[in-house]
Order: sequence, then structure tokens, then C-alpha cells
Amino acid sequence: RKLRVAVLFGGRSAEHEISLLSARNVVEALDRDRFDPVLVGIDKAGRWLLQEEALLLGASRDPRLARLNQSAPDVALLAHPGTAGEAALTVGGASQAIDVVFPVLHGPMGEDGAVQGLLELAGVPYVGSGVLGSAVGMDKDVMKRLLAQDELPLVPYETVRRLAWERDPSEVLARCERLVLPLFVKPANLGSSVGVTKVKTYEALADAISLAFAYDSKIVIEQGVEGVREIECAVLGDEEPIVSIPGEIVVDHPDGFYSYAAKYIDERGATTRVPADLNEAETRAVQLLALRTFRVLEASGLARIDLFLSKKTGEVYVNEINTLPGFTSISMYPKLWEASGVPPRELVSRLIDLALARAERRR
Ligand code: ATP
Ligand code: MG
Ligand code: MG
Ligand code: MG
Repeated sequence: RKLRVAVLFGGRSAEHEISLLSARNVVEALDRDRFDPVLVGIDKAGRWLLQEEALLLGASRDPRLARLNQSAPDVALLAHPGTAGEAALTVGGASQAIDVVFPVLHGPMGEDGAVQGLLELAGVPYVGSGVLGSAVGMDKDVMKRLLAQDELPLVPYETVRRLAWERDPSEVLARCERLVLPLFVKPANLGSSVGVTKVKTYEALADAISLAFAYDSKIVIEQGVEGVREIECAVLGDEEPIVSIPGEIVVDHPDGFYSYAAKYIDERGATTRVPADLNEAETRAVQLLALRTFRVLEASGLARIDLFLSKKTGEVYVNEINTLPGFTSISMYPKLWEASGVPPRELVSRLIDLALARAERRR
């Protein structure tokens, strides 16, 4: 019998649209000899849609679909603890049996452990990091604290909570003066560069902070790496993860960094170089850092590790982990594996096998 793979996509975060693009590629890469896809879309209001209805999410900005949102049924994930293969997804009246879930969701309420917790409760195997790994990977502040504890190289940064900013902005601005310009201001829990600003003067800092707080109640302010090269590695596995060859993002965009527009809107905003132009020692150093990051942050299944290499000093820094990295046609995660000898069909199969093996080990 073929395994029914529930592909979860859309979601409530600001990365909803990216998730739709990622999910399409995951579904296309599914080996149909082994798997049957079950499409599960989550609209921006958090309502779940099954199969045909889920397909309509692709056009969710079409006003003609407003009625869909209003009539979207409640969802219940029925738990059958301990009996693999009996989980069923019940949306409204319709019930659909599933064997494993592939959450193709980016950002909060998808990549942050919330959905993973639901799936744990339901006893359904799922692809990717568990609750803890997902949660620490989503929170740039907690992530940095764990990486720092293991002495992984990080750029200097400050964490600011909304209450502190509202009570005493001058104290916050004073704290940031130790950071050398340019600065990067980011919501603590998000992705796709949503809400991220490159700040070139201290005068521009307050506006950037306000923007980031529009997305999260906690933000991080980082010192920018001078003459930065952006290197990314893909990691695959569980207890013995493997790392891909490194790739590089070369940004050529008026925003001056790998912004949302440079990523997804302006076709020539950034190009990817796979493999990255690194010597052997540099390659090994970034791969080792990527694997250490994966382990320290309790990731599992898959992750993309973003690193910075300073052209000026040659120093390498860990920027962040993405526990559900993009899977769009231009995304680094599948590209890096393809170039490392794992084409998309095999990659998706291996990810699902890892999910099943983990669930089996826990039984
Ligand atoms: P995603 O999850 O899509 O990779 P994100 O929203 O989590 O993105 P980051 O990767 O942390 O955000 O930052 C987005 C981009 O901003 C980076 O790819 C880089 O271009 C730039 N950037 C962020 N921090 C720094 C820094 N400290 N120095 C130089 N550039 C930076
Ligand atoms: Mg990220
Ligand atoms: Mg991300
Ligand atoms: Mg990143």
C-alpha cells in the first residue's frame, strides 16, 4: 500500500505565499510509486482546507474566494496514539486517513513547534525537527544564546523586548551604540527577511525597530558583517546528519542585502552559486559549523544553516538555522542537495523515511 503523505502548507505567518510555492515543489518531488499526497492547506486566518479546497489557496487573494474562508470548516486531527497508520485528518465532515505529515510551513505557527506539538499529540510521524528544535530554531534570540553557550561564532547583537522599547527607547538606543554600523534589525521569530531592515545610520535605527515590532514582540539588532559573503549549507539526517556542499548567495539589489524583494520579487536581485567559491579549508570549516549548529540547536530531519564569511577578515559566523527551509524552485535547500548528489525525489523520500524511522524508534 502507498503511504499517504499529508503535505501541510500555507499557514498564518507572513511567509504564507512562500509556503505555497515550496509545497508545490514538495508534491511534485513525491515518488508516486511509494506515496500518495494528501493536500492540507491552512489559510491566513488559520482555517484548514482539505484536498480540492486546499488547492484554491493558491489563489487566496482572489476576492471570489472570500466565501471559502467564511465557510471553511473546523479541523480536528484525530489521535490514535501508538497505532501508526490509523491517524485521520478530519476537516469538517470529511475524514482522510494519513500515514505521515510533511509540514511545508515557514515562520511562526508552522516552523516554530506549534504544529509539531499538535502532531506529537496526535501520534502522527512528521518530517523535520521536533517541538524543541523547531522552537529554538525559530527564535533568533534563544538560538543565539544556545549557540553562544557552545562558543559558536556569532556577530555582536542585542535583544529588545517591546515593553523595554516602549518604556525607555533611549536606553535601548544607547545599548545599540556598542554595535558598529551597519546594523540589521529583525523580528526574533520570522523568516524570508520579512520585517528586516539594514540600518546605515543611528538616526534610522528607531524606525527600523518600530517596523520589526510590527511583526513580533521581541526583536534582535545585530552588527553587520563587513564585506559579507553569504554561505549556506543544507543538513539532512537525524542522529548522524550529513551536510551538503556549501552554496553562496550573491546579492545585487538596491536594498543592499538579501531582502524579501531580493529573494522573491526581483528576478535578478540575487543569484546563487553552487558550490560556493571556497577553498578546501573554508569548505570544511563552514560544513563543520553547519553540523555543529544543527546539533546544538536540537534540529532533526532537515535544516538550512546560513553563515556569513567576512571578505575582510576571513572570519566565519553562524547567522541562523532554518528548520523548514524554502523548497521553491529557486531555493537553496533542494539545490544544494541536488549538487551534492541527492536529487529532489530522493531527498523528499529520505526526509519521509527519516520521519517514519524516528516515530518507529519512539514506539
Ligand atoms: P530566511 O529565514 O529567509 O533565511 P530571515 O528572515 O530569518 O531569512 P536572516 O537570514 O537572519 O533573516 O537575515 C536576512 C538577510 O539579511 C541575510 O540573508 C543577509 O543578507 C542580511 N543580514 C542579516 N544579518 C546580517 C548581518 N549581521 N550582517 C550582514 N548581513 C546580514
Ligand atoms: Mg531564517
Ligand atoms: Mg526561514
Ligand atoms: Mg537567513
